[in-house]
Amino acid sequence: MNIHEYQAKSVLKKYGVRIQEGYVADTPTKASEAAKKLNEETGTSWYVVKAQIHAGGRGKGKINETGSNGVVLAKSLAEVPEKAEKILGGTLVTKQTGDAGKVVHKILVAQDVYYPGESEPKEFYVGILLDRAKGCNVIMASTEGGMDIEEVAEKTPEKIVKEWVDPQLGLLSFQARKVAFKLGLEGTAFKEMVKFITSLYRAYVETDSSMFEINPALKTSDNKILAVDAKVNLDDNALYRHPDLAELRDLSEEDPLEVEAGESGLNYVKLDGNVGCMVNGAGLAMATMDIIKLSGGDPANFLDVGGSANAKTVEAGFRIILKDPNVKAILINVFGGIVRCDRVAQGVVEAYKNIGDIKVPIIVRLQGTNAEEGKKIIDESGLKVVGAVLLKDAAERVKEALS
Ligand code: GDP
Ligand code: MN
Repeated sequence: MNIHEYQAKSVLKKYGVRIQEGYVADTPTKASEAAKKLNEETGTSWYVVKAQIHAGGRGKGKINETGSNGVVLAKSLAEVPEKAEKILGGTLVTKQTGDAGKVVHKILVAQDVYYPGESEPKEFYVGILLDRAKGCNVIMASTEGGMDIEEVAEKTPEKIVKEWVDPQLGLLSFQARKVAFKLGLEGTAFKEMVKFITSLYRAYVETDSSMFEINPALKTSDNKILAVDAKVNLDDNALYRHPDLAELRDLSEEDPLEVEAGESGLNYVKLDGNVGCMVNGAGLAMATMDIIKLSGGDPANFLDVGGSANAKTVEAGFRIILKDPNVKAILINVFGGIVRCDRVAQGVVEAYKNIGDIKVPIIVRLQGTNAEEGKKIIDESGLKVVGAVLLKDAAERVKEALS
């Protein structure tokens, strides 16, 4: 689960990670009040207004309606509501949102932390994620902060410092020092970075996160290290033990069909193609998407109904697939292992009748336990459902349905 920057920062703050302070607002007036509060608490007289959406690249992104960037500087209290007005309610398009962009419902009004002082502010990258291959957490850091880290990894991989942490041992203090040293820090900034990494790592472990990305982590002109941006990905499978974090979910940031599928216990990912597919098992779902491609179509979704598909799950799956206007055909590909094919066939026929008025052709391919019986039920149902036993047949049927 992803959370907003303002939420991520408040989680980090609880763990003692220094952050760029700010308040969230959903109107220009509240943005003004937030700025006043920041002025009283931090003494800042410059502010940053930041669109809160679940996507990065906001600084360079543009609001469709007003042309404003997604992150802008306000050099006085009076500028804050003006800048907020140009962002709130607008559609922000960034490298990560796709052309459709995302509507901004909230902004974060933050203190300006790039103030001049004894040294230049300097942006770093600090991330923590799971290295599945090594079975370890890995801390990644770079002097090339504020930039697209994928690009740094590709063009100048030597500029990325990696430190693997054994989850049994936890982060050892020499490891945090090693990272800070490799970033070229010394004195106060070195100590600050060690503290930053140490509390960040603790926050990562204790929130059961799967990814933290602080880009930029800023060294201020007075040698403090703080999180200017925060991207936090929480492990869905561990949310049950963090009810407070689970509450941070923002459904308006998620695809509505994916939310509905989740409520029915279906594993659904929306894609851009024209052939809806419903499959039991993730591996078979991947193979089915390949077959759809080979037959000249494009999968409209990934949908794994799980090992115990029944009439109810099949119907829920159908409804979700049919809500996607791009779908021109549906391919159901089920392997009867635990579930019997005749039961699935029955489920398909029932769902078809219950939903009614399905205009797109449906190809059902059943294999495994009671496959022949299943095909018979489909063939005899009198409905416009095309049965197929072999995957090759199913692919042919999809091709016919699309032509
Ligand atoms: P992203 O573009 O979605 O990654 O959003 P960030 O939170 O990383 O902000 C984008 C950029 O805004 C940063 O890389 C900074 O250059 C700039 N920025 C953020 N906070 C401040 C600030 O306090 N002062 C100034 N001058 N610039 C800031
Ligand atoms: Mn950023």
